[in-house]
Parts: sequence; structure tokens; C-alpha cells
Amino acid sequence: MPAAWRTGGPNCLEQPDWQVHEYNSDFYILRQSGCVHYEKPFLYLIFGKQRAMLVDTGAGESSAADAVKKLMAQKKRELPLVVTHSHGHGDHTAGDKAFQAMANVSFAQAKTFGIENWPEQAGGIDLGDRIIDVLAIPGHEVAHMAFYDRRTGILLTGDHLYPGRLYVRDAAEFLRSTRRMVEFTATRPVAHILGCHIEQSAEPFVDYPTGTRYQPSEHSLELGRAHLLELLAALEAQKGKLEKVALRDFTIVPK
Ligand SMILES: [Zn+2]
Repeated sequence: MPAAWRTGGPNCLEQPDWQVHEYNSDFYILRQSGCVHYEKPFLYLIFGKQRAMLVDTGAGESSAADAVKKLMAQKKRELPLVVTHSHGHGDHTAGDKAFQAMANVSFAQAKTFGIENWPEQAGGIDLGDRIIDVLAIPGHEVAHMAFYDRRTGILLTGDHLYPGRLYVRDAAEFLRSTRRMVEFTATRPVAHILGCHIEQSAEPFVDYPTGTRYQPSEHSLELGRAHLLELLAALEAQKGKLEKVALRDFTIVPK
């Protein structure tokens, strides 16, 4: 993982729209520049033998399709692409249109992953010698999903868990979804937990204000399973009405 990510600025003229990080030759992380949109979301592109899968398409004037096309061409990977979303909020789906216009692209939802009994049942997809498990994790948003890559041991948690403000819209579902991920990871290796944003600063308990584009000293993207346990403990400690809690690496914010 990079020691620091680009955010947006200080000089936007020198900032590319996307920072593309090769985690390994089959797993790429794309970060949208804060100069394009303050949400600065992270996108994930995973390659199997038969197809590639992209999680999320960016915010605002997203040129994710161009960035992904270029990357796949550079890597000489002419595979069909499956596009899916961590959840349906606009800062994760803004680039959809350009993907819909691309050849060899299909969109996947819970049903595509074989999830019939939402949210208890897990699903998955085989990208070709590479299985991605899919968990239903409503709470931040009703159709939120998490993705577990068995090859790397990376769990993608979208906006449910990341170093920043975790907006909880349905507290009961959010708690059940957190418990679901804790149970799922109890018997599996977790290399990193990667979410879709960084809003936390490198200083414990301190986050950048909403709308910040340039974050010269932000928290690392990667979290570990301990953070998932910490989140569960904090949620369980709140009996009754959920209140805002600032923890070292993230903040729980009821909406
Ligand atoms: Zn969201």
C-alpha cells in the first residue's frame, strides 16, 4: 500500500483525475482526485482468469470508464468487465453511464451474485480461478454489499467501515451487518479492510471537515479486523438510541 495517497491539490493543475495503484498485478486501487470531487472515492478493480470486476464508478464528473479502459489496455487484459457497486449513493455510481456505453461490460447486483435471501444469505462470483464472496451489509444504505477476495484476503467494506465518518441510517441493520462481517471473518484471513473514502487525519480522533479536497496528512486507507471488532463493540455499547462516537480511526455518525 502507498505510504500516502494523492488527495486534491495543493495545485489542481498538476493533479491527474485518478491515482492508479497496483496492489499486485491482479488487484488495482483507483482513487479519484479531490480536484474532481471532494468525496475522493476509492474504486477497486480485480482480475480473474475469465473476467475482471470493478467495484464502484466514482463521483461527480467521473472519468472512471476512461481510466479503467486505459488500464486494461495497458495490461493487455481484454477480458469482459463486471461492474458492481458497494452501494447506490451518487458518489459511487456517477461513472455508470460511460460503462453502459462500453462493449463487453455487464452490471452485477445482489441477485447476480446469487443472493436470494437478503440480507442473511451470502453470495459470490467466480472471476475465473478467483472467488469473490459477497455479503449483504445494509445500514449505511439499504442495498450495501461487502466483497471478500479470497486470493488476497482483502475485505472491501464500502462506506460501512473506513477511516472517516460512518453514516448510519438504520442502526439495527448496521449493527447486524457489522456482526455478519465479524462472523464471516472469524474463520478467514483478513489482510486489509479497505473502504471507499478517507476523511480521518493522521492525528488520532481528528477528521477533516466534510467537503475537504486537499488532505496533506490523512489516515492510511487500510484498516484491519481489529477495527471491525472495535466498531461492533462501540455499536453494542450503545443501548437504545445511537449517538455520535469519535474513535481513534473513525467516527460513528447517526443520520
Ligand atoms: Zn454512501
